[in-house]
Amino acid sequence: MLEVRSVTREYRLGEVTVKALDDLSLRIEDGEFVAILGPSGSGKSTLLNLIGLLDVPSSGEVLLDGRDVVHLSDGERARIRLMSIGFVFQRFHLVSAFSAIENVALPLEAAGWPAEARWERAASLLRSVGMADRMLFAPARLSGGQRQRVAICRALANTPRIVLADEPTGQLHSEDKAGIIALFQQLNRAGNTFVVVTHDHEMASAARRIVELRDGKIIREVRT
Ligand code: ADP
Ligand code: MG
Repeated sequence: MLEVRSVTREYRLGEVTVKALDDLSLRIEDGEFVAILGPSGSGKSTLLNLIGLLDVPSSGEVLLDGRDVVHLSDGERARIRLMSIGFVFQRFHLVSAFSAIENVALPLEAAGWPAEARWERAASLLRSVGMADRMLFAPARLSGGQRQRVAICRALANTPRIVLADEPTGQLHSEDKAGIIALFQQLNRAGNTFVVVTHDHEMASAARRIVELRDGKIIREVRT
């Protein structure tokens, strides 16, 4: 279970304070598939970063399985991220000096998987998203859509029980997009929790709950 309670996140830029999230509360149960919608600047990435333990709120609480995660040490937060959370970054954050397969294998190495098992796992994920013939390519030699698929594979590598994805299909053509949506749905049926920031109608319709943000607040919630 993931929960934010009355979180506010302010960014200070010199004299100006921007309230990216404004007293927002949201609770997500295990196994849910939630889509987060809203215009640019409404706080979607800020919210995902908080529940992904990448950032802390200016005030309010962030709870994972009922436990406060704001006041843990950086090491403890990193450990939880590694073992429980897969994050697909909006700008991918691939390691440019590594090949596609090495990028996907990274979290497996950190989690202590033996070399052969990590290559097998990474290769099988990349094959499942149509990247069989691009595994040894560095990110610079991949298209935006191919990089996005590598970033998705990396987030899924460790079979995290919670997958957080920031516009994960933004660079994909419709065929690849359908494949990613099907993959997310398959994992969700197996019990993994998905929270996906998206502008995409098809991805949003895969979700069973839609949360709409505006100006750092939830303005609408729909269960489908
Ligand atoms: P979204 O993902 O919905 O486009 P964000 O969460 O990225 O929105 O941003 C919400 C608000 O916070 C925006 O006004 C944005 O300009 C501001 N913001 C986000 N990140 C930063 C930052 N690192 N420094 C200053 N302002 C930020
Ligand atoms: Mg964003």
